Amino acid sequence: TEEKSLHFIEQIIEENIANGFPKEQLRFRFPPEPNGYLHIGHAKSICLNFGLGLKYNAPVNLRFDDTNPAKEEQEYVDAIKEDLLWLGFNWTEERYSSDYFQQLYDWAVEMIKNNKAYVDSQSSEDMAIQKGTPTKPGVDGPYRNRSIEENLTLFEAMKNGDYPEGSHVLRAKIDMKSTNMLMRDPLMYRVLHRHHHRTGNDWNIYPMYDYAHGESDYVEEISHSICTLEFVMHRELYNWFLDQIYDENRVRPHQYEFARLNLNYTVMSKRKLLQLVQENIVKGWDDPRMPTISGLRRRGYTAASIRKFCEIIGVAKRENVIDVSLLEFCLREDLNKTAPRVMAVLDPVKVVITNYPKDKEESLDAENNQEDDAAGFRKLPFSRELYIEREDFLEQAPAKFFRLSIGNEVRLKNAYIIKGESVVKDNEGKITEIHVTYDEDSRSGSGSEASQRKVAGTLHWVSIKHAIEAEVRLYDRLFIDEAPDSHKEKNFLEFMNSNSLEIVKGFVEPSLASSKAGDKFQFQRLGYFNTDKDSTEGKLVFNKTVGLKDAWEE
Ligand code: ATP
Ligand code: MG
Ligand code: MG
Repeated sequence: TEEKSLHFIEQIIEENIANGFPKEQLRFRFPPEPNGYLHIGHAKSICLNFGLGLKYNAPVNLRFDDTNPAKEEQEYVDAIKEDLLWLGFNWTEERYSSDYFQQLYDWAVEMIKNNKAYVDSQSSEDMAIQKGTPTKPGVDGPYRNRSIEENLTLFEAMKNGDYPEGSHVLRAKIDMKSTNMLMRDPLMYRVLHRHHHRTGNDWNIYPMYDYAHGESDYVEEISHSICTLEFVMHRELYNWFLDQIYDENRVRPHQYEFARLNLNYTVMSKRKLLQLVQENIVKGWDDPRMPTISGLRRRGYTAASIRKFCEIIGVAKRENVIDVSLLEFCLREDLNKTAPRVMAVLDPVKVVITNYPKDKEESLDAENNQEDDAAGFRKLPFSRELYIEREDFLEQAPAKFFRLSIGNEVRLKNAYIIKGESVVKDNEGKITEIHVTYDEDSRSGSGSEASQRKVAGTLHWVSIKHAIEAEVRLYDRLFIDEAPDSHKEKNFLEFMNSNSLEIVKGFVEPSLASSKAGDKFQFQRLGYFNTDKDSTEGKLVFNKTVGLKDAWEE
């Protein structure tokens, strides 16, 4: 019932409708280039475009912008589809810019015939010089006034593969003196003798983004073509290309720009993410430290938390940098409601309950999630020898130490109150065993007077006899710098956090034995974890997803 204010693109659409634009002609697209995996920045664009589709009950196409065969691969196409579905979005039609190669070619021939395009045969250096600068107008090159006949012949020969790469390009004939540099006869086609992941070796020329994108929107009758702010200056060109082909019986696409997502302590350019993968700085695109959707998923992020994050950051026209702790906050909020609580000890020290019978074992009731009444209870084995976290004990406790120490009482979660009695140390003085006594009447949930007693704190633990050894991967930020790719004089790789992965041997309660890749838990008092895909029946592997609190606060 809470009325949310409309973001600026929704406002534009509402205005369009009010001015007579037929609602049923609304159509959107999400246009990834299949040259890498989707990242959290793409999620913003996905939530925006698919969100509009849901809001207006309008189609949303998934269009692979595959005009550069040098960088594109089927692996990326598959990964993009998987990530989109996982995020909870389904597209209306799956399209490829390469589906339109013939149409784009035919339109280019039309443009040559209309004296709106020409073949230039200079080096790229010469063309760059003629292009001028923002303050200096460009000058016409020597091939600008080639005859239409010659242009048609050359362009066809380019297509047929008669010329080597770099020999000729097709340029739009606009205005070398335009104040908008992008309008100074931009490239439309270049020669590339490359195998394309879909069209194979059919083509020896490939269209440039600016030409292909708008015309592809036109083919699909996309009404609102939404992109990020870097494309503001491209809009004039987008419209110019549409003017060349526009037929008033079709929907005319319009380009709108919004601020991209920038997140601190990471990089989001696919080129840089690819470099991290190729140089084995991370273990693949889905490494849990990566800002990719697949990395976040493997780390333990939920799709709901990513959608929530995109909702909170909103859609605006002003660039800013979002703190990664906001993303973590959204995740914690979600996992707090949904993740079952379990016990795991990651830095174990042995505890012996000296007054607990040697061969006794108990099966205690433990609540799975106090935030979720439907989550129920599970059985937790208890015995004389336990592990607790080494940092939860100090022989000589300072004031306000709310953990275990000699002479002090704490509660073992879901179990009994214990009291520290003595320690056993090795030759180096390291504690190897903590001897405690327990209060038999203090069992949690027993309702006894002893069970209600207030003690200094509550500790998590596992029964040594029943616990399962597990590999636990603890992650930290990939970069130590807030904006690793913003330094002019330094490469972003100089800011890698050398401690972004720590692998420890921990012990988890036996209920986790059957956990499956992707299962999420709160390891009590430690944080949220999930089962990694490297987990096997004989060897459990967990990823730390996020801590219980923001460790970077203050
Ligand atoms: P990169 O520069 O990393 O290659 P890109 O923008 O070229 O990214 P595309 O695959 O072309 O990647 O992007 C698909 C869509 O996602 C585009 O509409 C683009 O505007 C959008 N997008 C990409 N990065 C972000 C971001 N950080 N925030 C919001 N939208 C983004
Ligand atoms: Mg790109
Ligand atoms: Mg792009």
